Amino acid sequence: MIVKQIWTGNAYRNFNYLIACPESGEALAIDPLDHRKCLAAATDAGWQITQVLNTHEHGDHTGGNKAMIAATGAKLLAHKNAKDKIPGIDRGLGAGDVIKVGKTVELEALDTPGHTMSHVCLLSHTEEPALICGDTLFNAGAGNCHNGGHPKELYHTFAEQLARLPDETRIYPGHDYIANNLRFTLDREPDNARAQGLLDEIEGQDPAHALVTTLALEKEINTFFRLHSPSVIARLREAFPDLPEEPDAKTVFLKLRELRNGW
Ligand SMILES: [Zn+2]
Ligand SMILES: [Zn+2]
Repeated sequence: MIVKQIWTGNAYRNFNYLIACPESGEALAIDPLDHRKCLAAATDAGWQITQVLNTHEHGDHTGGNKAMIAATGAKLLAHKNAKDKIPGIDRGLGAGDVIKVGKTVELEALDTPGHTMSHVCLLSHTEEPALICGDTLFNAGAGNCHNGGHPKELYHTFAEQLARLPDETRIYPGHDYIANNLRFTLDREPDNARAQGLLDEIEGQDPAHALVTTLALEKEINTFFRLHSPSVIARLREAFPDLPEEPDAKTVFLKLRELRNGW
């Protein structure tokens, strides 16, 4: 399986993706907002885009569908409950559905509500597992819930699905927010040396050659996976003095999400 991350260079800092079968050259375009860059990358590599998949219904993920499908005749896939929000879906996806790309690639759809209520992530069952996570999980951060989402659902998606994936899972998010997110982690957990080291390492990186993290690394540097950290909890108590003595993970997650909204 080949994963090509495409940096759009737009103001929203979107990443688009092509997933290709090395044997057949068939490719899946994920959230191809910058359809020109995606098409050019496919042409350069000799791939044929046969499917387009939207992780969710927001315009910065669906805005390239029309032009991409007009140019390739690709089928459109998205969450089955997005049918009234995304025009022209050919295949509605639910949890556990398998998306085949060419002869060698199989991706499992995960139903991951929170950022919106009709959001899918894709998990590859390859030797090195990969997660295409749209706006649910970002490098060192979590999606917001301002436009059709719910923080409690996002917590359950993190705790019951994402956190349980293999540690070596490679993380491919829908936006490049890593530097700002690491600053939030450090604001919440100033003694997180790993986050500080990573911020020093990636500050000023060219997003066209972005660092790809793993879930193991996210668990060290993403405050939304560090819900039991004593320093996260101590710092949270400064903002929320009524926080219980031993707050549960869900409470910590929701308070962090609330602080991130205004940060
Ligand atoms: Zn979104
Ligand atoms: Zn987005």
